[in-house]
Amino acid sequence: MTDKLIELQAVQKAFRSADGAPRTVLEGVDFTLADGEIVALLGKSGSGKSTLLRIVAGLVPADAGKVEYRGRPIRGPLSGVAMVFQSFALFPWLTVQQNVELGLEAQGVPPAVRRERADAMLDLIGLSGFGSALPRELSGGMRQRVGIARALVTHPDVLLMDEAFSALDVLTGETLRGDILDLWDGKRIPTRGILIVSHNIEEAVMMADRIIILSSDPGRVRHEIRIDLPRPRNADAPEVRALVDEVYGLMTMRPAAAPATARPAAIDYRVPDTDVGRMESVLDLLAAAPYDGRADLPQLSEDTELPDEELFPTYEALGLLGLAHVERGDIALTGLGLRYAQADQALRQALFGQQLLKNVPLAARIRRQLEEEPGGALPEDPFIDLLEDTLEADQAKRMLEVAIEWGRYGELYEYDYHTGRLKLPGTGNTKE
Ligand code: ADP
Ligand code: MG
Repeated sequence: MTDKLIELQAVQKAFRSADGAPRTVLEGVDFTLADGEIVALLGKSGSGKSTLLRIVAGLVPADAGKVEYRGRPIRGPLSGVAMVFQSFALFPWLTVQQNVELGLEAQGVPPAVRRERADAMLDLIGLSGFGSALPRELSGGMRQRVGIARALVTHPDVLLMDEAFSALDVLTGETLRGDILDLWDGKRIPTRGILIVSHNIEEAVMMADRIIILSSDPGRVRHEIRIDLPRPRNADAPEVRALVDEVYGLMTMRPAAAPATARPAAIDYRVPDTDVGRMESVLDLLAAAPYDGRADLPQLSEDTELPDEELFPTYEALGLLGLAHVERGDIALTGLGLRYAQADQALRQALFGQQLLKNVPLAARIRRQLEEEPGGALPEDPFIDLLEDTLEADQAKRMLEVAIEWGRYGELYEYDYHTGRLKLPGTGNTKE
């Protein structure tokens, strides 16, 4: 089929972790970028979005599966596919003009033509007059314009952007995004397809014809949402808000395999990586006016000014502990969550401990083993070993850290940083 620019089928990718164990990052990924499409790829941090993009760019090979550009296998970087990175990746000692020409140089374009095309691209992207500047003389937004110009100057058939706007302040990011869409919708660039990776849901909804949501561990395509709204889109339009809500809902939902009623019993069930302080501040915010127990997730995210990457694990943790639940883009406190919000410090900690025992198998396991131990104390290492059966070493360590922090707060156990020992509260002489 000629209308498929990029086609991935059953793509698999594993990396070897520090301890040598392979870790599957992408599994069974099917994906198509059609001619004329902008597709946005969303997913939690670590879900494999950048890896997928780098596979498409020919920068890393897939372990298995089909990876094709216009019906031909991708075996390395292609001149028709260009990538814009988050971290501008400009050469500091080269001028703006030279940085932009670089892409053409690699393609063997003669100097005079390079110069002409770079000039035209600098004009198009709003950089005329900056050709002789050095990157350090430019603001972040202007630097990213250079990064984009360097990709576009090659007249790529497919443009890949990995978090291209996320290092910029909100306004600059929006402007640049709007400018790219103007070029695209006005057909002022020959590019036939754009694939963007983002963790910004609104950005994806504003730009894309289709949104793909990857799940984590391993990354798979979990949802696909088609967006038929004409561009430019108004961020405040009800249809846009509804879509942002829908995507929020999909991204914060647990996979169908783990419904809220059947609590995951596995010891290595992934504890969301968030701290108690953040959980309580979100819970307190949610309990107070104007929310009074229920909030629209995008709204709450705006109010907390925390990135979604930090908020999602926090929502997940509140859900796991039975203090709140998330549905279709809303988060609502449960009855217990409301009581928690009104409780004094001692009751909060008691409720926290109770919910932890009930819902987090790792915490319950630590507590039980400590109770079975005559001295009420144990080193942490066996627990790390246990987790390492199924998790990568650094993840196992991090997960135990989180479980320890939560458990200390809930007064299920205490922990001594110096000795790495866990013990029941109020026993022995381990003092902290
Ligand atoms: P995302 O862009 O969605 O945040 P990435 O694709 O960057 O995710 O990474 C997915 C997982 O793959 C992460 O756990 C990351 O540590 C791992 N990973 C990515 N690249 C490599 C690599 N070159 N070597 C080892 N592990 C990697
Ligand atoms: Mg990434």
